[in-house]
Amino acid sequence: MPNRRDVFICETGPRDGLQILDTFVPTEVKCRLIDAIVEAGLPEVEVGSFVPAKVVPQFADIDAIVAHAQRHRGRTIVSALTPNLKGAENALKAGVDVVNFVISASEAHNQANVRRTVSEQLDGFRAVRAAVDAVSADKRPHLLGAISTSFGCSIAGRVSEKEVLRVATAYAEIGADEIALADTVGYGTPPLIKAIVSAVRREIGNRIPLRLHLHDTLGLGLANAAAGLEVGIRRFDAAVSGLGGCPFAPGARGNIVTEDLIFMLEEMGLKTGIDLEKLMATRAILVPHVAAHYLTGHLHEAGIPKALRKSA
Ligand code: ZN
Repeated sequence: MPNRRDVFICETGPRDGLQILDTFVPTEVKCRLIDAIVEAGLPEVEVGSFVPAKVVPQFADIDAIVAHAQRHRGRTIVSALTPNLKGAENALKAGVDVVNFVISASEAHNQANVRRTVSEQLDGFRAVRAAVDAVSADKRPHLLGAISTSFGCSIAGRVSEKEVLRVATAYAEIGADEIALADTVGYGTPPLIKAIVSAVRREIGNRIPLRLHLHDTLGLGLANAAAGLEVGIRRFDAAVSGLGGCPFAPGARGNIVTEDLIFMLEEMGLKTGIDLEKLMATRAILVPHVAAHYLTGHLHEAGIPKALRKSA
């Protein structure tokens, strides 16, 4: 990675952004999107999910996408999500750099999402840890444990700190290389972000990196990112053009907008290592294939003010 970075951003648009669409984005377009994201300097791209094509047809081409993204090895980290062992085995076969496993803090959300209890899902994570450990050390991917609904749930409503800590502690014990706290439905608020992040940090210690995955459902996405920074978070997921949405709130905004997040961070004096103007160009790749209401972002609407542009 050529640039020194103060904050690490994983671009999740190709995964969390595209999974909600009911139209298939052609493989060639996904590849061009990933190429442009890497070209702009994103250090990690979550390129899709290893789930049955019957469940999420958007990722029917995941093997081809991972194979394409691997051309950028050395410049970016290729990650993919999976909710189960079968998917993790396929991700390992494909040779991803990061396997992103997911468990909901909310029992009701976990049931709705993967039809298993949280406890059964933790057993699944144990099996995935073993499968990853069976890979030779030089090829072994990083195993990220994501905790969905860490800041609220569209089914259960408020999620308690205890429920989040239960999963975080188990992840730490089983051996997650990193833990992501995900505001899956976007109910988080700055004080809640600070409280949960601090509680998880207290509980698991400093050894395991933490990242935040935020959605802008209620317009608090960047405020929540700023709150995360205040309690030590330096790793974020975000999506170009704010791709994504909330499956339980049709029409709601998606992930925090990568472009807007980078602008905020750089203005705060935090280096991201990302070329914002190049990243803005990803919008043109999306426009012909993604319905306009999914494409958001203040910088896209206002343009980067001339007076604030980096003279590079
Ligand atoms: Zn998400």
